[in-house]
Formats: sequence, C-alpha cells, structure tokens
Amino acid sequence: MTLLSEYDALVVGGGPAGASAAIHLALKGARVLLAEQKKFPRAKLCGEFISPECLEHFARLGVGESMQAAGGASLSETVFYARGGSHVNVPSEWFVSGGMQALGLSRAEMDARLLARARGVGVEVLEETQATNLLIEDGRVCGAQLKHGSETARTVRARVTLDATGRARTLARRVEKSAGEKIRKQARLVAFKAHLTGARGAAGHCEIYLYRGGYGGLNFVENGLSNLCFIASARDVKACGGEAERVMREVVCRNQRAASTLSHARTATPWLAVSLEGFGRRRLVPADGLLTIGDAASFIDPFTGSGMLMALESGELAAAAIVRNLPSLRTGAAFQTLAGDYRTLYGERFDARLRVCTALRRAAFVPRLAEALIYLLGASDWARRRLARATRNQTKQSPLTETQTR
Ligand SMILES: Cc1cc2nc3c(=O)[nH]c(=O)nc-3n(C[C@H](O)[C@H](O)[C@H](O)COP(=O)(O)OP(=O)(O)OC[C@H]3O[C@@H](n4cnc5c(N)ncnc54)[C@H](O)[C@@H]3O)c2cc1C
Repeated sequence: MTLLSEYDALVVGGGPAGASAAIHLALKGARVLLAEQKKFPRAKLCGEFISPECLEHFARLGVGESMQAAGGASLSETVFYARGGSHVNVPSEWFVSGGMQALGLSRAEMDARLLARARGVGVEVLEETQATNLLIEDGRVCGAQLKHGSETARTVRARVTLDATGRARTLARRVEKSAGEKIRKQARLVAFKAHLTGARGAAGHCEIYLYRGGYGGLNFVENGLSNLCFIASARDVKACGGEAERVMREVVCRNQRAASTLSHARTATPWLAVSLEGFGRRRLVPADGLLTIGDAASFIDPFTGSGMLMALESGELAAAAIVRNLPSLRTGAAFQTLAGDYRTLYGERFDARLRVCTALRRAAFVPRLAEALIYLLGASDWARRRLARATRNQTKQSPLTETQTR
C-alpha cells in the first residue's frame, strides 16, 4: 500500500473507539489511516455485553444488520446477584426507548465487523502494525511511527492523531512520560475471561455475581457458548496461584448463584487475563495534535456494561469535533479550538455518568453494602430505572448531525 504524505487523522487502535472515529471521519470525507497491532478477528478480554444503545451506534456506523446477523444472543435483562442469592433485575429496555434488547456477541466478531466497515468506507487500515512512537514537531504531535512486523518503522504524518489504544494509552503515556509525569500503576485487580460450555445461565439474561473484592458477569454469545468475565483482587488471585480456573471456583463461586450456574461449566477457549490499574477519567488532550478516545480517555466500571458504548460514543464525538475544525486544520491553524470543542462535548456527555459509576463501584466491592443496595433497589422499579439511566447518556442525537465545517 502506498501511504499518503499526510492524513487528516491517524487513528491508533482498531477497537470500537478507533473504528467508530475512523468510520465517522471517512463518511464525512476525511482522509484516515488506522493502525492496529493485532490481526483481526482476535479474542479480547471483555464481558461481551453489548448494551442496547450500541445498536443505535451500529446503525449510524452502517453495521447494524451485519451485527444482528452475527449469531449473537439477545439479552433482555441484567440480573445482579448478591453473595447469598438475593437479586435485582434491570431490563435492557430501560436503557433506551423502543424496547431494544442488548446483544451478547464476542469481541472477535464485533471488532472484526467494525474494522471491515472502516475499510469499506475508505479508511486505510493497517493490521499487525504497531505505533511505536509519536512524531513531535515544535511541541505538537504531527503523526506517529508505525512498525509492521520486522519491517523498519515508517513515519506517518497527520493533522490529528487519535490514541484509541484502550487502557494501555500507549501514545498518551509517551507524552506524559516525556513530560516526567507519574504514571498510575496500582494493579490491585485482575480480570479474567473465557468462553464456556455447560454454564447454566438463564437464556436472555446477563448475570452479574457480586463477591468480596470483585464481581463477575456471564451471558450467552454466539454458537451456544457463554462468556464468563470476572474481576478479583490481586491478593485473592495470588492466593489461587494465579490460576484462572481456581479463582473461578474459589472466589467467584463464593457467590451462590455463580456456584450453581458454573457447576458443570467447562472452558471452550483459553483464559485471557489482564491487570487493571484503575478507573475513571484520563487526559483527553495529552498534547497539541493528540486526542484520546475510548478507554484511553476514561475507563468506566465494567459492571455498567457501558464501556463499549463509551468507546463508540467518544469516537463519534472526536470525529464531530475534528470534522467541525477540519477546514482550518487543513490550512495549518492552531489545534486549540478543536481541543476545546472535544473537551466540551466530552464533559457534557460523560462527566455525570462517570461520577455515578464511581459511587456504585465502591458499593459493589463491599458485600454488606452491595446486599443492602440490592435489597433497597429491589423494592423500587422507579429507583432502579433512575439509577440504570444515570449510568448512561440520554441524548439520542448524533453530534455529527449538528456538525458544520468551520
Ligand atoms: C473485565 C472487563 C469487562 C468488560 N465488560 C464489558 C462489557 O460487558 N460491556 C461493555 O460495554 N464494556 C465492557 N468492558 C469495557 C470494554 O471492554 C472497553 O470499554 C472497550 O473495549 C474500549 O474500547 P477501546 O476501543 O477504547 O479499546 P480496546 O477495545 O482495548 O481496543 C484498543 C485496540 O488498540 C490496539 N492497540 C493497542 N496499542 C496499540 C499500538 N501501540 N499500536 C496499534 N494498535 C494498538 C489493541 O490491539 C486493541 O485492538 C469491560 C472491560 C473489562 C476490563
């Protein structure tokens, strides 16, 4: 492939955030290059609960039918189980009007379909290509160095570079490291995931199991398999010798419902594991010329089942801010207006949501508090619906429909 001398946008990372930004930008006529270090389809550690609002994003991205045809499971509700078995349910239709259901679909399938769509709308997609460094001129990020296998790294120039590398925040960290900033590294939690056969979860349900120091989630995906994904404290994982199977049996199964659902479960895929270094908001504009999207911008608590939604949404917001400012960027104008637009759009959409989720996480990790919350919320549909909606944005309009090019 012959690369252009300069792109409007270089997107690094081909997960939902990167693909969403790249597709929206290309649909608006921008020249986009997307670099992804892996070859798709690839397995990814995730609960694989695709919330109903994501389906609206899929429709706007032009992959609605393709996702529905992928053989995933329709999920009508999420049921939260306290250790002793008491539970509350949250119907998927509470998240969006129109009675849409959530979808259980593997990340291998979902991400591959998004990346194929990006190619289809004219994004230049380079797989097995890693961004190894940033190109910085006069303090401004002007692109990155990309390396494909053992080839020599090549430099790609872009007016805007998007860090969509997920929780790794590979590009943002480079800037923060070179500015001598402390990198947060706590890793008090470890997450695991595998596809299972023989799990006895209820069809159409996403089950969430609460236990001391963490929680786990199980739902059906395609091919009759269940996806089990859970988080445990690093201390508990160490006590189990770091073995995922033991953590599942000795930590997750302290939850009575998990113990009964998983009693005959067997793994159908190898376990994936990652350490989690913390949640919440990170820098949106680590340097002139560089924006973060998806988990690289904020990591929302997985039990909300809204990480992929935030990834798709923030990719769309970044695309809206870029499209609005593209004409002036093409004439070499300053980056500040774009940065300001993105910060404003992002704050309006996500700040309140992130605060609610932080409070809920604190409760979820303390069994007595979680049990009390489940008891109280169980008594009121109204309170559950309000809380479920507070973990989401209620704006339906795409930021791109309001976009005027300056
Ligand atoms: C335990 C757990 C359970 C979760 N469960 C759910 C759930 O059920 N529902 C939900 O909505 N969300 C869930 N999430 C959150 C969800 O997985 C993330 O929010 C989502 O994947 C973020 O998308 P992203 O595109 O920002 O990053 P990612 O999906 O992480 O994609 C980043 C991509 O960048 C690539 N990359 C990284 N570095 C480079 C580089 N240097 N060069 C090129 N490419 C690079 C990676 O290979 C990867 O493909 C969960 C998260 C965790 C940890």
